Amino acid sequence: MTFGRRTLIAATLGAPFVAQAQPKARVIVVGGGFGGATAARTLKRVAPDIDVVLIEPNPVFTACPASNAVIAGLRDHETLRFTYKTLEAEGIRLIHQRVIAIDAAHSSLTLADNTRLDFTRAILAPGIAIRWNALPGYTEAAAAVMPHAWRGGAQIMLLRERLAAVPDGGLVVISVPATPYRCPSAPYERASLVAHHLKLRKPRAKLIVLDSNDSFSMQRLFLAAWKSLYPNLEHLALSASGKVTEVNAGTGEIRTDFETYTPDLANIIPPQRAADIAVQSGVADRTGWCPITPVTFESLLCPGIHVIGDATLLGAMPKSAFAAAAQAKACAHAVALILNGQTPEPPHLLNTCYALIAPHLAISSAGVYRHHGTILVDTEGAGGNSALDAPRSTREAEARHAEAWFHAVTTEAFG
Ligand SMILES: Cc1cc2nc3c(=O)[nH]c(=O)nc-3n(C[C@H](O)[C@H](O)[C@H](O)COP(=O)(O)OP(=O)(O)OC[C@H]3O[C@@H](n4cnc5c(N)ncnc54)[C@H](O)[C@@H]3O)c2cc1C
Repeated sequence: MTFGRRTLIAATLGAPFVAQAQPKARVIVVGGGFGGATAARTLKRVAPDIDVVLIEPNPVFTACPASNAVIAGLRDHETLRFTYKTLEAEGIRLIHQRVIAIDAAHSSLTLADNTRLDFTRAILAPGIAIRWNALPGYTEAAAAVMPHAWRGGAQIMLLRERLAAVPDGGLVVISVPATPYRCPSAPYERASLVAHHLKLRKPRAKLIVLDSNDSFSMQRLFLAAWKSLYPNLEHLALSASGKVTEVNAGTGEIRTDFETYTPDLANIIPPQRAADIAVQSGVADRTGWCPITPVTFESLLCPGIHVIGDATLLGAMPKSAFAAAAQAKACAHAVALILNGQTPEPPHLLNTCYALIAPHLAISSAGVYRHHGTILVDTEGAGGNSALDAPRSTREAEARHAEAWFHAVTTEAFG
């Protein structure tokens, strides 16, 4: 990378006449999840001269992928947790604070302690926020009684403990919001593993999935798996009055247009939008998500700011850790090229989502995406789902691939 041609020439000649050193480009990455950590590491690797700063409030990141297995008691919570030590050792400057404001016009941002930092470019990867009360009754206080477990952290263990306490003969309800939301297949993986837990430990208990959608990711594969493995799992789609219209954490009630349920455990996956900082800084539009150009991931609303991961409005590419990491790498390369005066080429973006249907049995869905104006669209004829009639050995192999993928994506992000 050459950030100051004069500096380079002077260095080559060994001449001291360049009195003023060129200012070092500084890229600030906001959010140290899958998108942000991968972007920071990729950028530092391809352009070591850039001052890469990663701002993330938590010293330990808790991953959502594989958290459904933790909730079902099949995996240790510690396996989801990652520190930023490797990133620091690689020369990335870590600041464990929250960004409270971004001034795109002046290329600066403010931290929670009111420190102001300037940047040459910024990459935002802040993930999602929950739209409290978008589902009437589902407030932050309600989440303590009806956990969502959709953003990592303590909610995962809360849901695990609550599931373990469900009595035999009890009722569990999982409510799925209308798309778009983080990880389209994750509610159905969760339903599978919760159903497995109940079948094993409380065989008279029942699980009802109340769905605000009629079609969903890997639908035929999930429905076939549930039919053969989990007779006590009932799925009610939107057209079968599955949409939850209101919850009441005080009475424990969940309402649809035709029914009121009072389950022993309610797992409410609520409506979502881009994280608060994206909305507050004007990078998100009226949809609640961030429109970008899928070539450089630069915001269409705030030039100089790039957005990756779940916070983006992207079209066909799902909101997944796989996708966030793929976007992070493409975005980091684009930012390095732009800072070097070059023009990035459109990237080829891939995604694969694995979902466990039972311990050691998984299915998957893969996609390849190309940009079409300001969105990403499916590349026809590429990607696809696992075969519906695949033998058990294929499902077992896919479960091994899922574990290998989790190891790869977390190693790539956190070292
Ligand atoms: C149950 C479940 C299962 C899943 N399974 C899979 C799976 O199998 N495969 C898959 O690919 N994906 C899966 N996902 C989806 C995956 O977790 C997300 O798509 C991924 O985390 C998105 O990455 P991100 O970088 O956009 O956001 P995140 O990983 O959420 O990172 C955002 C980071 O930004 C930080 N942040 C937010 N606001 C600020 C601020 N103001 N200042 C500084 N930092 C801030 C947050 O603290 C956080 O660390 C699953 C999700 C769930 C809920």
